[in-house]
This record gives sequence, structure tokens and C-alpha cells, in this order.
Amino acid sequence: MADTPTKKPWLVGMHYRMRTVAFAMMFVASALHSTGKSYSPGLWLLLVLLFLIYPHFQYYRACRAGDALNAEMHNLLVDSALLGLAVAALGFPLWITFSAFLGTVSNNTANMNWRGAGKTLLAFPAGALAGCLVFGFNLSPDTGWPATFFCIAGLTGYLVAMGNVSFTRISRLRLTREALRHREAELMDVNQTLHRNFQEIDVLHDQLREQANRDALTGLFNRRYLDSTLDRELSRSKRDGLPLALIMIDIDHFKQINDTYGHQAGDQILLRLGELLASMARAGDVACRYGGEEFLLLMPTMPLDAAVVRARELRTNFGDMVVPFGEFRLKATLSIGVSAYPGHGVSAEELIRHADEALYRAKRSGRNRVEIWIPKVDVPDAQ
Ligand code: GH3
Ligand code: MG
Ligand code: MG
Repeated sequence: MADTPTKKPWLVGMHYRMRTVAFAMMFVASALHSTGKSYSPGLWLLLVLLFLIYPHFQYYRACRAGDALNAEMHNLLVDSALLGLAVAALGFPLWITFSAFLGTVSNNTANMNWRGAGKTLLAFPAGALAGCLVFGFNLSPDTGWPATFFCIAGLTGYLVAMGNVSFTRISRLRLTREALRHREAELMDVNQTLHRNFQEIDVLHDQLREQANRDALTGLFNRRYLDSTLDRELSRSKRDGLPLALIMIDIDHFKQINDTYGHQAGDQILLRLGELLASMARAGDVACRYGGEEFLLLMPTMPLDAAVVRARELRTNFGDMVVPFGEFRLKATLSIGVSAYPGHGVSAEELIRHADEALYRAKRSGRNRVEIWIPKVDVPDAQ
């Protein structure tokens, strides 16, 4: 598969244009300076290679480099050294030398800070020294009028172009900064929206969890919740050495109410019983709808005798209650079974079973009553 061409930095293209123009101008200045002098063919070749060919070669190199920007910074110093070499080869004509040095040092400073200026102060003379070694030391600073005029105009144009490039860079920077600020504001908005969404999700999550633990009709806890809570409360009672009581409640002849007045009438009674249970539950008690018309009140820390008193209160309060339903005034009674830890069992399953057995005995004994679980006594067979 062919390599994907990497995008060259903007700076490399811009330097290519600047270098091509500036070096071409150096060529023109050198050519103007040649009037009345006899440049050797070797010098002409050097000028052509250096001022007309070299910029394209450097661009090619920068584009192929892995790190184009870094390569370009290196190229700028090579520019300085080669300009030094060229002016040495020309015999240091003052205006050409001055233009070449000022151009390269200002360009390198703009690109590499004061360090760029320092490096140029080394590279330019090093190139000039190399030029003296190759072409011999020749000092003829006089620059004719055509070359002088061209250098002044060219240098001015070059510095103006550099100023324009600086302006472009600053403008781009400002635009980028504004775009970044804009993006930052957008991101903050998105962030806030996300934060709000997460909060809503948390609330919904809590609501869902709450709903999963509640009975839809009465709003009391459901059996699922009781199952998970009873084990926990029982463990706590065992650890703290405290009692715990269970009250199992069933509405008497509820089917009859449904059959006589309709299901909605039955629902009204269930609702009122739910309210009554909730109002009688202490903080920490768990009032739950255990099944259709069966309810359970879990009372941690409550001893058996106190639980029996509460169960009787509940039976009486409910028995006294009148539930209006249309033209009817409904009444019902409760049968209640009570079991308590530690006397009636040590596991959740045992305590529930025993409360249920006590409730069953309340039913058999005529309903509308409270019964406490009594252990079965094994009676030996009569001989
Ligand atoms: P007992 O005194 O022996 O408890 O008799 P009962 O009629 O109360 O008991 P049974 O178990 O025969 O009937 C319970 C009835 O409860 C049957 C069912 O239709 C009704 N039921 C269960 N859930 C609901 C409910 O959500 N709403 C209404 N209206 N009725 C319900
Ligand atoms: Mg029942
Ligand atoms: Mg019933």
C-alpha cells in the first residue's frame, strides 16, 4: 500500500517562497555587481547553484524529512553559512554582504528567537571563512550604484515581506485562539449538559430502585424488599442481642368483599389498611404487602409482648375503620399472627413460617383475633 503523504507544515511552504525570492534577488544583486568585473565561470556556477537551485533542493529536503519543522530550522542555518560563503567568494561587497547578513539574521531571529541570532553569528562567519579558504581572501567592499540601489530596495522589500508574514502569523494565532475559546465554551456547555443528564439518570435510577422495592397499589414495601431486609435486621438483632418481632396480617373474608362490592371496593380496603400500617410503623419498622390481602409488619428491637400490644391495636383500629365506597360503607376485620426472635425462631424463614402458623390458628379460632405462635408439644401416643 502506498504511503499516505504527510501534510507539510505551513511554515515550510512559506519559507520556500521567501527563500526562492530572496536568493533570486541575491543573484540579481551579484549579477549587477559583476559589471566591470570579470567573474570566473566557477563563480558564476556557484552563484547559479547557490541562489537559483539551492532553494528548491532545501524545500525538497524539508518535505521529505520526518520532522519537517526541525529540518527547516536546520536549513535556515545552512542558508546563513552559504550566504557567508557567497559574499566571501564575491570579495565582501559591502551592500550585498550587509543585505545578506541582515536578511538571514533577522529571519533566523524571527524563527528561532535570540538563539537563532546567536547561531547566525556563528554560521555566517563560518561560511565566510570557508569561502575565504576555498576562493582566497579578497576584500573589495565597493558596491556599484546599480547593485547598491537594488540591495536597498530588495532589503526593504524583504523586511516588509517579513513584517507581513509576522502579521499573518499573529492573525492566524488570534483566529486560532478565538476558535479555541469558542470550542472551549462549547465543550463546557456539553459538559454541563452531560453533568445534568447524569444527575437525571441518578435520580431516575434511585426512583427505579425505589419502585422495584414498593407495592404499586399501597406504596408499602413489597415482599422482595422484605426478604432482603429481614435477614439484615435479624443479623443485627443477633449481633446486638436485641429482640425482633413479626406481625403477619390477613383480611378476613376478603374474597366475599370483592365478590359483593367488586374488586375496586377491595382495593379501597387494601389502600386504607396500607395507610393504617404505615401510620402505625415506627421509624425502622418495615411495613410491607406480603401477598394479595396479606401484610407483614417487621419490627426490629421490639419484644414479643410489645408486638402483641401493637398487633391488638392494629386489629382494633382496622375493625373500627369504615371505608366509604360509593353508597356503601365497608368494614372488615383482621386476623393476625405474631412471632418474635429469639423465642420463636432464629432464621427469617422460621420466623415467617411461625407467624403464618399463628395467623392460621387465628383464622381457625374464628378470625378477627391476634394469635402468638405456640410451639407444638409432642404428645406421646396413648398405650
Ligand atoms: P380468609 O378469611 O380465610 O382469609 O378468606 P379470604 O376470602 O380473605 O381469603 P382468600 O384467600 O380465599 O381470598 C383472598 C382474595 O384476595 C382473593 C383475591 O381475589 C383477593 N385479592 C388478592 N389481591 C387483590 C387485589 O390486589 N385487589 C383486590 N381487590 N383483591 C385481591
Ligand atoms: Mg389470604
Ligand atoms: Mg383473607
